[in-house]
Amino acid sequence: MATSGALERLEICGRNIFENIGSESALKKYFKQFHNFFSFLLIAGALLSYASELLDPGKGNLYIAIALFGVVILNATFTFIQEYQAEQIMASFRQLIPPVAKVLRDGEIKEILAPELVVGDVIFIEEGDKVPADGRLIEENTLKVDNSSLTGEAEPQLRSLECTHPNILECRNMVFSGTLVLTGNGKAVVYGTGQNTQMGKLATLTERTTSVETPLRKELNNFIRIISIIAIFLGISFFTIGFVTQDLFLLNLIFAIGIIVANVPEGLLPTVTLSLSLASKRMAKRNALIKRLESVETLGSTTVICTDKTGTLTQNKMAIHSMTLGFEQIDVSNGEVPPDILMKVAVLCNNSRLVEGPSRYKGDPTEGALLMYASKFTDIDLMRENNTRLKEYSFDSLKERMQVIYHTDPGEQESYLKGATEVVIKMCDHVLMNGDEVPITEDDRNKLLDMHLKIAGRGERVLALAYRRAEEEIEYDTGFTFIGFAGAVDPHRPEVKDAIHKCHQAGIKVVMITGDHPVTALSIAKNVGFSSNGNEPVMITGAELDKLSVDELSKKLKAPYIIFARTSPVQKLKIVQAFQSRGEIVTMTGDGVNDAPAIKNADMGVAMGSGTDVARESADMILLDDNFATIVNAVEEGRTVFDNIKKFIAYILTSNIPEILPFIAFVLLSIPLPMNVQLILAIDLGTDILPALALAVEKGEGDIMKRPPRSKYERLLTPQILLTSYGMKGPIEALAGFTCYFAVLLDGGWTWGQALLSNDLLYRQAIMAFFAAVIVCQIANLLVSRTRIESALSRNMFTNKIILLAVVSELVILSMIMFHPFANKIFGTAPISMEYIVLAMPFAILLFVQDEIRKYYIRKGSLLAKTFLKW
Ligand code: ADP
Ligand code: MG
Repeated sequence: MATSGALERLEICGRNIFENIGSESALKKYFKQFHNFFSFLLIAGALLSYASELLDPGKGNLYIAIALFGVVILNATFTFIQEYQAEQIMASFRQLIPPVAKVLRDGEIKEILAPELVVGDVIFIEEGDKVPADGRLIEENTLKVDNSSLTGEAEPQLRSLECTHPNILECRNMVFSGTLVLTGNGKAVVYGTGQNTQMGKLATLTERTTSVETPLRKELNNFIRIISIIAIFLGISFFTIGFVTQDLFLLNLIFAIGIIVANVPEGLLPTVTLSLSLASKRMAKRNALIKRLESVETLGSTTVICTDKTGTLTQNKMAIHSMTLGFEQIDVSNGEVPPDILMKVAVLCNNSRLVEGPSRYKGDPTEGALLMYASKFTDIDLMRENNTRLKEYSFDSLKERMQVIYHTDPGEQESYLKGATEVVIKMCDHVLMNGDEVPITEDDRNKLLDMHLKIAGRGERVLALAYRRAEEEIEYDTGFTFIGFAGAVDPHRPEVKDAIHKCHQAGIKVVMITGDHPVTALSIAKNVGFSSNGNEPVMITGAELDKLSVDELSKKLKAPYIIFARTSPVQKLKIVQAFQSRGEIVTMTGDGVNDAPAIKNADMGVAMGSGTDVARESADMILLDDNFATIVNAVEEGRTVFDNIKKFIAYILTSNIPEILPFIAFVLLSIPLPMNVQLILAIDLGTDILPALALAVEKGEGDIMKRPPRSKYERLLTPQILLTSYGMKGPIEALAGFTCYFAVLLDGGWTWGQALLSNDLLYRQAIMAFFAAVIVCQIANLLVSRTRIESALSRNMFTNKIILLAVVSELVILSMIMFHPFANKIFGTAPISMEYIVLAMPFAILLFVQDEIRKYYIRKGSLLAKTFLKW
């Protein structure tokens, strides 16, 4: 079809897209955000406040009820917007790798964006593609498709050119938009696009599978549960005590509300989401696209990275380095020219094509390399024109060979074969020597295998080439004449060596999985630093792998460096399972259709940006640059995120103590309440938010890639965090608060036991002093929380500008609440003299210093500090 005609049709039929993919409705997603313990607690608090308003109207309890309810809604809305935005961003990232289709336009094979396909286009599909539109096949080579997304049938469906069934979905000569090509290739005429496809017609596109809980989600739920239990426990026990000692129902009600509000870190959940989405944006800048926000953190706990060799550790820029004919090396530099038959196999048993531009070829890199080599000696286009391909038995990594049948001269048919040495040599009974076909002996076979080892030992990927006469159009297993070897080199990526070294330091095992020969694999492995102080890599071949049981295999997986050679992608699943049975967290890369089960089953599935749609669909992360080093960067980012979430949890929880203790003191000591609910909310939703975010973007500490991976059992909220926040930093803050509070009261002539009205100026100044003291201490807490183990003094104020901004925000909010008349009214505060703020400073310094001492002892390796205070 001509491009102009296609454009006209595009006008009429519309773009080849689904209008709106049925996914969870936004409303449902929104309501999901309310479904957690914190929301329940806060709603309970709001109801209690409303109850006290009914009991004792006009005391402002109604506003508290409204405020608490507002917090619930605000929180849910914020988290919802965050997640929604993150999803949008992910969607736009996915647009970076838009679906493309190969079509015949203006007489040429072109790649166009799939949405621009129109009815009548001829499309080309091959292994790993997602079919871009509905079409009728006009050519096919061992084409099998996976129609399960449409019909639910999981088995691969063979295609043919005959119409086999009246039901279109059962008919073999049809391919459908959105289904996957498992093997082979084919040509089809498009007859339906967009909404007019079978997929588009499925009115209720089934909702996407509900996502499973990620480790982080579980951790957060665990966190929420513990904090809620503490809140409920405190609430009930002091409510009872208060009842027994004071018998004032109403006051106790206010107390219960206060305890709830004080215990729940209102701003935490949105901050976690925000920090994850910031991290995934950072990762995207470094070429790693994360599909689900929470898997950022799964990456950080990885203990094993299983990686493909070709393209990930290497550049996938193949070039033919050596060529042999029979038993002889072809010395091109001496003007020797490879014989015609070798050129024929290289060019015709080959699906790649040469193009203009830097990549120079399209298609399989090994085949591209062969083509570029051949183009130096012969006219490729002419050769392809003069010979007609009758049949193709396409390359697959199980058979490790590709065979084609060509019509050459009139009445002549030949089969050309290329593939892995072991496979091809077995199929040959002759060998080409000085232009003659001589019968091959066992000796010759061994000699050839030796030659192959020598070439492979240089790190070259070896292809054996052979041909035979083809009387029939069938896939032959014997009767070939061996021509020679082609050795291709694929230089390793320069940055990989450092990345592997980093993994080693970080206690992460690196495993290479390749279909190549063990000797080739080992040579490349050595080049990228797959060994360290005497630790030689362990080699397991596909054949051995088949024989081992999962148990036996998992015993072999202790070694720090492991190479799986001559493995097929289907075996990757077994490898994943063996590692998982050892309790490892496995990251697995892949690009092909066969890789999908392993990618899905791995804890972190990684697909190559250049890989097949199938692989990308099943992955959690996509590498835009296919680079191993990118995985390692992402792991580092993941570890940093987990550390930083801990940091801001430790920071936020600290202020819970000066929020809780006033209520307890109020019940036990019968003093005027030193902190009201509005001020608690001002901390949790005001002054604490930006600091938490600032901590979320802190850079990782020096040891981040020098310590072993996080244990599976390591929690986000540990007893150690609770001990430092609730047991050490929190009490100091509370002490600061009470000191300033009583200082104001006593200076104002208050005597112990005297009750104060909530609009009394002295009372309003006293709670202002309490609040100010907490904020001053939280600033010190923020600065000291920037590191977990290193000294906070090692961090420059200006490396993280948000820290600076956060401190300013705390001071601004503090002065607003202190000086602004309207704020005074809402929060029940009044301005105080500066001396009371100065009074809080020694406590702030104390807080800073004691946490630095804690870290110092951890650095020194003190067992006590490491056991109880390290988080
Ligand atoms: P890898 O994991 O390195 O990508 P493959 O499964 O692609 O390994 O290749 C395995 C072996 O199959 C190679 O060593 C090579 O001998 C052979 N081979 C690779 N590509 C082709 C091809 N396009 N045609 C024929 N044989 C191939
Ligand atoms: Mg390959």
